[in-house]
Amino acid sequence: MPMTPITATTTPAPVLRPMAFCSDPDRITLVTGGAGFLGSHLCARLLDMGHRVIAVDNLSTGRRSNVAHLEQTGRFELIEHDIIAPVEIDGQIGAIYNLACPASPPKYQRDPVHTFRTSIDGAQNMLDLALKHDARILQASTSEVYGDPELSPQPESYCGAVNTYGPRACYDEGKRGAETLFYEYAHRFGADTRIARIFNTYGPRMDAEDGRVVSNFVVQALCGQDITIYGSGRQTRSFCYVDDLIEGLIRLMAADIGFGGPVNLGNPREFTVLELAQLVLDKTQSSSQLRYLQALPDDPRQRRPDITRAQMVLGWQPTVSLNDGLDRMIAHFAETLGTPKEVVLS
Ligand code: NAD
Ligand code: UDP
Repeated sequence: MPMTPITATTTPAPVLRPMAFCSDPDRITLVTGGAGFLGSHLCARLLDMGHRVIAVDNLSTGRRSNVAHLEQTGRFELIEHDIIAPVEIDGQIGAIYNLACPASPPKYQRDPVHTFRTSIDGAQNMLDLALKHDARILQASTSEVYGDPELSPQPESYCGAVNTYGPRACYDEGKRGAETLFYEYAHRFGADTRIARIFNTYGPRMDAEDGRVVSNFVVQALCGQDITIYGSGRQTRSFCYVDDLIEGLIRLMAADIGFGGPVNLGNPREFTVLELAQLVLDKTQSSSQLRYLQALPDDPRQRRPDITRAQMVLGWQPTVSLNDGLDRMIAHFAETLGTPKEVVLS
């Protein structure tokens, strides 16, 4: 179904800062989590824009192979490091995108204390680094800060309904705490901060064993395995294609909005998990069957971004429908999966 069109009259021209702090060839753009799904797409895009990029990653859910092709630019380096510890960078940093953190529920629940510390200690280390280098810093926050929301769509002003005491808390509360650190560093120390609240994003280069719903369904359908539905499948998500999301991150980093608070980035078109399963089955012509499993604790029942702020401040909105994005993702996975039996889903 097409997205609701946004009329030009409601979307003023965005104020984008010429990225002086990044276009200076001596200034480095640092991407933590740069070897992960979103990070590797972001690094590629920044290199295309002429930046010098350093990725910092502990390779817990990311892979060296995601960024190996970037090394030939001569402007890219991957440093293996855990951001729970401070890091020194040789050279002047202009901008930091802080993306390091496992994002898939089965992956972030594998070592919850480490996940929590990645968000809290990692954010503080990166904020200190940003202050030291007088660099702008963007935090990859999440729609999970809204928890199991009681209103839909979710605007940035909604404070959320989040459980502090449960299996998702290490991620949700870690991300909320990181936003708090960004708020305090901006207000107390003058840090030049940006916060993107990212909604479910999918696309090529997701790890086949990532465990999130879109990659699970695509892999299951292509491999002829059962499609695993947690609970009734009536819970909803709004799926954003990776290229759209990266465009939003770049625009948010470049926008001259001062400390403007968090900005939702996501595709407002909402689907049930069952609708997603059916779409993937139709597209892959798969004979996989639906298998209903127990609902996950604290699984949000609905999620849909209100992107008015991103439209107004960044002139941004998604352009790729789930229909088209899935085609691209399925083509990529069909090409790269290898032997179906080798894939072990979380
Ligand atoms: P991902 O798991 O593919 O990437 C995360 C990367 O961070 C990996 O390369 C991993 O090795 C690295 N990492 C994890 N902990 C680290 C640590 N302590 N030190 C250094 N590196 C570490 O996940 P993704 O989907 O690419 O998500 C990237 C960021 O965007 C995360 O912060 C996530 O919370 C956020 N986000 C993503 C989505 C989404 O739908 N993809 C939605 C909301 C928020
Ligand atoms: N989900 C599912 N089957 C799977 C993986 C996930 O039914 O194999 C559901 C999950 O319970 C949730 C939704 O799909 O309701 C999105 O899950 P995901 O892990 O992708 O991200 P979340 O938004 O929950 O962090």
